[in-house]
Amino acid sequence: MPKFTATSYEFTSFPAVQNWIGGQWVEPTGSQTYDVINPRHGKSMSTFRSATASDIADAVSAAKVHLSEWQSRPIRERAMVFYNLRALMHENLEELTWLVSHENGKTYAESKAEVLKGIECVEFGCSLPNMAAGEQLDVSRGVNCKVVYEPVGIVAGVTPFNFPMMVPLWMLPQALIGGNAFILKASEQVPLSVVRLAEMLQEAGLPDGIFNFVNGGKETVEALCDNEDIDALAFVGSTRVAKLVYGRAAATGKRVLCLGGAKNHLIVVPDADLDLTAQNVMASFTGCAGQRCMAAAVLVAVGNVDHIIEEVCKRARAMKMGVELGAITNASSVTRITGYIDRAETAGSNVLVDGRGQTANDTGYWVGPTVIDNVPKGTPAACDEIFGPVLSIVHVATIEEAIQLENSSPYGNAAAVYTTNGEIAQRVMREVSAGMCGVNVGVPVPREPFGFGGWNDSKFGHGNITGWDGFRFWTRPRKVTTKWALQKDATWMS
Ligand code: NAD
Repeated sequence: MPKFTATSYEFTSFPAVQNWIGGQWVEPTGSQTYDVINPRHGKSMSTFRSATASDIADAVSAAKVHLSEWQSRPIRERAMVFYNLRALMHENLEELTWLVSHENGKTYAESKAEVLKGIECVEFGCSLPNMAAGEQLDVSRGVNCKVVYEPVGIVAGVTPFNFPMMVPLWMLPQALIGGNAFILKASEQVPLSVVRLAEMLQEAGLPDGIFNFVNGGKETVEALCDNEDIDALAFVGSTRVAKLVYGRAAATGKRVLCLGGAKNHLIVVPDADLDLTAQNVMASFTGCAGQRCMAAAVLVAVGNVDHIIEEVCKRARAMKMGVELGAITNASSVTRITGYIDRAETAGSNVLVDGRGQTANDTGYWVGPTVIDNVPKGTPAACDEIFGPVLSIVHVATIEEAIQLENSSPYGNAAAVYTTNGEIAQRVMREVSAGMCGVNVGVPVPREPFGFGGWNDSKFGHGNITGWDGFRFWTRPRKVTTKWALQKDATWMS
């Protein structure tokens, strides 16, 4: 396929997307067709046909061709491909940035930050040869036991629309450097960035068939889950689908890790620093137009924090649509987001900042920053994942009540507290029910080598998707116990 190049926010058309199997672009055999919409312009810029179970079987066959040669390479050699990928990504940073922006609707700055975060994941992958040394111990006199991390085999990943470049790169370095072959199905809304990633991996020296890319929706994911030759599958997306995929993939004996949706609580107490809190809350609920699983969704106001709420609103009203705030990725999300605002308003909440009808142009999908005050506990705006630039404010009297509210959410991705009081911070960090927590940090993403992953309905399966845990997910530990003739009398008790 020709290069997928865009150089500005201006509308650009791209060729139809094909499957990448065995190191070449191959026409998918599915009958369903998809449009790839540019959210800023609201019109189709590319198309593709869905991949079928037979296309996935072809990807599996392609994976088998070079798998044993790939696995025979020392981990340091496999990591070299990712050193090369890092260089290529830097060389093509502008192109990748504009691709992310075109398909997802993020601003240029957000898209560039996403690609750079993807590069950070690649850099972590490059450090794996140093980290993956395994453990060894003389478990008794003359008897040594060691752990070696072996590949799982042929593995798959399914990714969501909100981070077209970064989420695939949460998976690929650890899985591939770990010695597996990978089949990726990106979100049907954002397949373009991975087109370039596939080509760059080949240019970086990855053998053909070790990375394959198929496209489609539900049926394609189901075919991946059902394929008995695929040994492990990781999924990132909404809770409803994460649960379904977890069950279906596990039914064929796969190792499975599924990250789901979120409703993140930011607890703000009156002693919080005004500037830091207002700036962080704003960045957290409006960044990527609120379409991220780490976004602040509920501001839990403990006592009187009106001065902070006023400052958040002031900053939200000043945001420039299309420049500081990107587009919403699809039209149906705009309807869903504004529906939540309508219902909260009808039920008596105060819409302090109203993003409904705010646009950067007449054709794209937009919702401006929205702050809803006095949202009652237990209502949809307080409980559901809205996945847009909407902050719901729930008032409570005490820190106990704030913690209880956070604990009542079925999700458990992120939670944060804004305070200058160490005791309150420690207590909140101990008692909230979330996997990724922040003290005065609005988007508490654990950067590498720490693993990304929530708790409760925000994750199904064990471990985390990034960092060292990611490597463990994509490998299996072999325990090797050794004794030589010299120690023939040694026993476990010696
Ligand atoms: P989604 O669940 O609709 O789709 C995710 C993937 O699943 C896509 O590739 C899609 O094609 C596929 N899919 C959709 N319906 C399916 C079905 N019925 N059966 C099998 N596969 C199906 O999610 P999305 O709308 O693309 O992304 C947004 C969601 O992802 C939000 O809920 C967000 O919180 C979540 N997310 C979570 C994390 C995390 O780390 N926890 C990170 C990013 C996004």
